[in-house]
Amino acid sequence: MKLTSADQPVISQEKSDTSTSQLASIFDQMAPHDHEQIVHYYDKATGLKAIVAIHSTALGPAMGGTRMWNYVSDAEALTDAIRLARGMTYKSAISGLNVGGGKAVLVGDPDQLKNEAYLRKFGQFIDSLNGKYVTAGDVNMTLRDLEYVRMETCHVTGLPEAIGGSGSSSLITAYGVYMGMKAAAKEAFGTDSLEGKKVAVQGVGAVGSTLVEYLVKEKAVVFVSDVSESKLQRVSREFGAHVVSLDGIYDIPADIYAPCALGATLNDDTIARLTCQVIAGGANNQLANEQRHGTMLQERDVVYAPDFLVNAGGIMAVAAEYFGMYSKEYLFQKAERIYDVCQKVLQQAAQQQTEPHRIAMKMAEDRIASISQL
Ligand code: NAD
Repeated sequence: MKLTSADQPVISQEKSDTSTSQLASIFDQMAPHDHEQIVHYYDKATGLKAIVAIHSTALGPAMGGTRMWNYVSDAEALTDAIRLARGMTYKSAISGLNVGGGKAVLVGDPDQLKNEAYLRKFGQFIDSLNGKYVTAGDVNMTLRDLEYVRMETCHVTGLPEAIGGSGSSSLITAYGVYMGMKAAAKEAFGTDSLEGKKVAVQGVGAVGSTLVEYLVKEKAVVFVSDVSESKLQRVSREFGAHVVSLDGIYDIPADIYAPCALGATLNDDTIARLTCQVIAGGANNQLANEQRHGTMLQERDVVYAPDFLVNAGGIMAVAAEYFGMYSKEYLFQKAERIYDVCQKVLQQAAQQQTEPHRIAMKMAEDRIASISQL
């Protein structure tokens, strides 16, 4: 429909230019990786500012957790949502799940804003998307928070086990990382036994500490770093892990480096310092720059198990919960397959002399293309 001059909104030229450029920048961010939809939601009464980014629904409903963060700007929040949603598409596709990729971000200070009304309002927003996006927990979203969201929508997963959910996903994530690490060890050392291997685990939170437990059971020699003294003391006391400094984790002569804390720890500085032959860990977005640092690792003959492949245990759990197929036994069987997929990826990467994460992305894209045809 063409607007007549009487229909035109009365806005100043300056405002008009600003809104036009902001609109363009959102589409500019969506276009490079074909994001399907971005939805913003604001509620004055509760202070809720939410963005849902839907990257792909080719395989099923877009699925991915909700991250609450005190972003310095709305633009930063949008960029985060867009980037994370795309990552979820690849993670689910390579894991053989029938879900797509999405992510929600909540802008603001969790301590100031989060309460029942805020979370239920967010639940109403999720419900208004009619299942095109299904949420779960992520940074600053607890199981209790998700219970409030569940009061308003059934399109939420990662709920407490006591109410039929899959509960905390860190155990299964750690198991998947362990499987991926073994597959990478097989490729690098010719055996997947980790006995006697020196493993540097960065971050001993929920995922890292469970990984340490698996490693110690297999008689690996484990080094750990964390900002939390109490967590370090616990893994040192319970599993005999050797504590190293935050920065020193990159310099110890380890066979394997397992980033389980932050993203972007594989960068110009750290890759030059790491002496390991294998990298496999739970953190998301480990390569600071996908192209550049993936290539640097390949040139140094480091076997890199792609993060989105090995840390997919969490999404496996919430997808199983959503489709009513959750059981611990089923989930551990599913996470065990990370070994096979990782082995296939690493073998193809070696044959084609290319970076494993490229192979893994191509496999995910091929699956999306083939299943979309059905
Ligand atoms: P967590 O918060 O329980 O643990 C993270 C740990 O890293 C904390 O103990 C924290 O103190 C520590 N840390 C922070 N900065 C550090 C630094 N500079 N050096 C060393 N340690 C530092 O989180 P988690 O659930 O264990 O997740 C770990 C990583 O795995 C995160 O990047 C997360 O996004 C990713 N991940 C988790 C899951 C899951 O199911 N929990 C799934 C996929 C990916």
